[in-house]
This record gives sequence, structure tokens and C-alpha cells, in this order.
Amino acid sequence: MSSEKSTVTAPQYRFSDLIDVPAFARMLESFFEATGIPNGVVDADGELLCLAAGENACTAFHRANPAAAESCRDSNIAIMHDLREGRVAGGLCEHGLMDYATPVVIEGRQLATLFLGQVLHTPPDMEFFREHARKFGFDEEAYLKSIAAIPVVDKDQLQKLMVVMVEMAKMLAASGLARLRQTALEHDLHEHAERRIQLEDILDSSPIAIGWSNSKNQIEYVNRQFTHLFGYTLDDLPDIEAWYRLAYPDQRYREMVVDPWIKEVALTRHTGATLPDLEANVTCKDGAVLRVVTRTTWVGKRQLVNFTDITDRWVSEQRKQAHDAMLEMVAKGAELTEVLNAIVRQIQSEDKTARCSVLLLDAEGKHLLTGASPDLPAFYNEAINGVEIGPGVGSCGTAAYLGQRVIVEDIQTHEYWKPYSKLAAKAGLRACWSEPILSSRGKVLGTFAIYHDEPRIPRSLDIERIGFAASLAGIAIENRYAYEELERRAYSDYLTGLANRRYFLEQAEIELSRALRYNRELSILMLDIDHFKHVNDTYGHKVGDIVLQKLSSICQATLRDVDIVGRIGGEEFAVLLPETGSEQAWEAAERLRTAIETAHVTLNDGLPLHFTASFGVTTFTEKDANIDMLLNQADQALYQAKGEGSNRTCVYQG
Ligand code: GH3
Ligand code: MG
Ligand code: MG
Repeated sequence: MSSEKSTVTAPQYRFSDLIDVPAFARMLESFFEATGIPNGVVDADGELLCLAAGENACTAFHRANPAAAESCRDSNIAIMHDLREGRVAGGLCEHGLMDYATPVVIEGRQLATLFLGQVLHTPPDMEFFREHARKFGFDEEAYLKSIAAIPVVDKDQLQKLMVVMVEMAKMLAASGLARLRQTALEHDLHEHAERRIQLEDILDSSPIAIGWSNSKNQIEYVNRQFTHLFGYTLDDLPDIEAWYRLAYPDQRYREMVVDPWIKEVALTRHTGATLPDLEANVTCKDGAVLRVVTRTTWVGKRQLVNFTDITDRWVSEQRKQAHDAMLEMVAKGAELTEVLNAIVRQIQSEDKTARCSVLLLDAEGKHLLTGASPDLPAFYNEAINGVEIGPGVGSCGTAAYLGQRVIVEDIQTHEYWKPYSKLAAKAGLRACWSEPILSSRGKVLGTFAIYHDEPRIPRSLDIERIGFAASLAGIAIENRYAYEELERRAYSDYLTGLANRRYFLEQAEIELSRALRYNRELSILMLDIDHFKHVNDTYGHKVGDIVLQKLSSICQATLRDVDIVGRIGGEEFAVLLPETGSEQAWEAAERLRTAIETAHVTLNDGLPLHFTASFGVTTFTEKDANIDMLLNQADQALYQAKGEGSNRTCVYQG
């Protein structure tokens, strides 16, 4: 941002811009009436602004007569010349009268000239004027009468009067100038305010949360998205310290994660090194925790900060881990309660203000039994244990009965909770959302409940979370008996249903040893979606997931049954092609690449989203080949394909 220095300069102003001319003219008129001294004001352009002279010798005789007027002009020129000196100028005109003029100078600029005259300093020598009348042919009697009316003022006296008049004019003009400046300043401030509003408008409509602080670490601005995301307003955040304390309330977390970053950022200010990003959990005003990437830049002395909410992506990674961990527990024969407790803790770690419980439907399908509720009071668990399901039996009894999610925002006022409201109050529970846990065939197995200690409506994030928790609990409960199903799930990828990395590698080892033993051909394709980060960033993580699923189904539809497709990374896939030589492998890759290129997923607004992938192909030739080596070769070829512009297939050349 360029810092524009705005100084208030009054534009070219004239005397008439500064003073109220008619009021000034009235004042001069009064002066004339009081003193008999004719006067006038001419502005810098020579325009006569006011004149208080009445009918006088000058206007009635001298200027009316062409020859006499010539003399008047000569006198004026002489006076104007003297005026340049900047002081009171005065002189005897050729008609024997005194004229005075003085400049009205404001801040070094002559804005006007005040004329006084004509006057006489001593009583007139009537003989001289009689002579004058004859010379120019004036009506002698009338002329002498007008001469007699000319005020006789002592020279000093006159100059003092003049100074008074000029001071008055200057005072009026100066106050006018001040007013003018004030107006200009207000205009400027208004413009300035408009500029500021525009900037804030722009920032307020930004989808990115933004704020900045000054050199004293005071937070000067946060945009609307910031408040929308975190709940905090500028009033909550007087300075950066306050932000750190609220956003990262856990002191240990702050010391371990946030402080090192703050130090590093402070260093960059002097070294000019690249500013590091901070990825950390931010606690919102309502207690919710978001995963946020914080980026900062120095703009002069200000620190501009923007925040990207990556909670979606982070949560899905966390869940993938929770899902895998849960399966592993089940596979290792862990007790169901242990597995369910782990699920509850996972959900409570995502929403720190929540307490959760799992209730299991008994064999009869009529009562709910305690499954896991590690953080609810024992008296509460005992009271609920064995409750008969039915409409109006709290959130869980109703959810299990209906087979549908039940949201109770406020336990104390909700009809479903009438019989249990006291019990809930004693346990400090105020909101309860309950999701039925369903088997793969849709049978109710129990309920997963999320409680809060104050009234609360779930956001979409919460709905998704409780759905995830219930489905995970469903797998755990169901797989207590079915181990085949578990195996299938343990080997397949959570999102796409393809072989997961571990299973793919196992299968690949088996195929490779077979190929080695029987001297068969074997190829591996590796593919990576192009610019996938852009898909996530532009359309959101969910659309990204849909693209991953679409790509998986294209792979399965396009490849042979004997080919093994695995998701080996976020958006990286590998395909094992048994009995396939280099040429055919390249063809398979191109067939797949073209199928992907022509496919699309449909966005919410109905528009198609196209995507592409790059391929690396390798075929095993050496006797001492191993899977790591082959994957590495395919990866190198893939890297080359990306380097050559993406959406293409490259073959590893050895
Ligand atoms: P390139 O064309 O060079 O491959 O660029 P890219 O953006 O595809 O590659 P990059 O490795 O930079 O980004 C991969 C992205 O894939 C980043 C990561 O967040 C995203 N991702 C990884 N796993 C998942 C997932 O399960 N779902 C979604 N939606 N995105 C994922
Ligand atoms: Mg990648
Ligand atoms: Mg990619």
C-alpha cells in the first residue's frame, strides 16, 4: 500500500470566497456614513467588490469629464505603483484631493485592495478649485459644493482608520480561510473514510479470514470472515497476546507449538527470510476447535495475517487414522467396550466441549445398555442403563425407537426429556444429539450421543461427526461377530474401497515372486491426479473426495479383473499388471488416462468438473527386482510425466 500523505491545501481562493461580501459592503457603507470618507474594495482580479462613496466630486465631475478622467487614471497608476511596496499608499491626485489605498494581504497573497478617498487633510483652498472648475468647464457652484462636502481628515488619523479597516478585512478573510480549510479537511476526511470503508468492504467480502496488528502489537482490524470463522470480534482482541491466549488456551500447547513460530516470525522481520506458516488447532469463541494454517507478512510496521481453515481435510485424515486404529483394535481382539471408548475419545478430541456416549440395544431390541461413556457421571450411566426405548424417552431412547437422528437443543425445555430433565441437570447436561447406530443391513444396534453442557444446535460439521462416530461404532459392534467383513475392511481403503497401501504391497510382493518364479512379465503403473490441491482449494475437500472415488471406479471399470489397484497415497494410485509387458502396460495406462480425461464429476451447481492424471510405467526386467525398486522406477517416470506438462504417460527408461 502506498502511503499517501494528504496535506490540506486551500485551493486558489479569492477574497470573495473568504468573506461575506454583502456584509462587508454594509460595514464599509456604515464607515462611510460615520466618517464621510468614500471607500471601496477591488479584488486581485481588479473587480470592484464594494463601493461606498455616494455622489462625490470625483464621480460627479472628474471621472465624468474625459480630460479630467485622464488625470484620475494617472493618479491611480501612481498609487498602484506605490502599493507594490505593500504598505499604505496615498497621494495627492492631480485634482488636488488625497487618495489612499492599502493591500489586503492574507498569508502572503494580496487578495484585495482597500481604497479610501477622496479626502482632504486641510480645509480646501476654494480659489484653487474654482480655477479647476473653469479649466475643465465644471458647473462652478455645484463643483465647489461637492468639494466643500469632502471630509477633512488629519493624515495620521486617516492612516490609522485605514489600518483598522484593513485589519478588519484581514480578520474576516482569515476566518473565512479557516472555514475554507475546515471544509477542505472535512472533504478530505470524508474521502479518506470512503477509501477506508472500501478497503474494509473488500476485506469483509473476502472468504479468507484476515487481520492485522500494528507495531505495538495492538490488533487494529479483523475482517468479517475472521469473526465468522472464530467468533471473536475486535473487542475480544485488544492485542496479539489476547489472541494467543484465546486461540491457544492450553499453555503447554502454546509453548510447544505457537511460541517457536512467533519467535521465527519475529526474526524474519530483520533477516527478510521466508515467513513460516503455522498449522495448529485454534479454539473458537464458542469452544469449537478448528485446524488452521496461519500465514503472515510484514507490511511496513504492520503484521498482516491470514487464516485458512483446513479442519475438513485434517479431520478426515484424523478419522482415517481413527478408523484404522479402531480396525486394528478389533483385529487384535480388543474388548468391544475398549473399542467404543476409543471412538468416544476420538470424537471428544475433535470437539473439546462435547461428552459422548454409546448405548447398545439389547438382544431383545427393547432396552438400551451402557456401551461406553467414560466422561459422564456414574450415577447418570446407571440411571440410563436398561432404559426401555420409545418415543419421548430422551434423545437416545427416541432415536433407537425411530431409527432416526434426534436433535435436542435444550434438554430442559424438550418434551422428550421431561422424565429425565432433573437427572440431566444434575449431570450438567443441557443439549443432546443422538444418532442411531445401524448395522450394514440397516438394523438398529444402539445409539451414539453427543452432549453439551449448554443449549446447542449442531452445525453441519457436528452432524457429519456424529454420523461418522455412529458408523464407526456400527463396524465395531457388528464385527464383534463377523471377522470376514473386518478383514475386507482392514485391507481396503476407507474412502475408495480400493486396496490400501499395505494390502497392495503385500499383493504386489506375491505377484512379483510369481513372475520371477515362472519367468512371467509384470508391469506397474503409478498415477497421480494433476493439480489436485487446486480441486480441494477451489471446490472443497468433499468434492476432492468425490473425484478420488470417481477415479477409483474408472480404474476398476477400465482395468482387467486380475489387475490390482491400490490407493497408495492421498491422490496417488498404483496398478499391478500381471502378465503384462512394457508395450501393453503403456497401452493400459493410456486407456486409463483417456478414460479419466473424458470423465467428470458433477458439482453442486450442476456444472461438470473435469480432471486428469499423469502416469509412470515400469516393467520388471532384472532378476533381483523388488517391489520398492519397481515402485520407485514408476515414480520416476511419473515425475517425468508431470515435468513434461502432466496428463501424459511416461515409461521408465532404465
Ligand atoms: P501435481 O499436479 O503436481 O500432482 O499437484 P497436486 O496439487 O495434485 O499435488 P500435491 O501433492 O501438491 O497435492 C495433493 C493434494 O491431495 C494435497 C492433499 O490435501 C490432497 N489429498 C490427499 N488425500 C486426500 C483425500 O483423502 N481427500 C482429498 N479431498 N484430498 C486429499
Ligand atoms: Mg501427489
Ligand atoms: Mg497430484
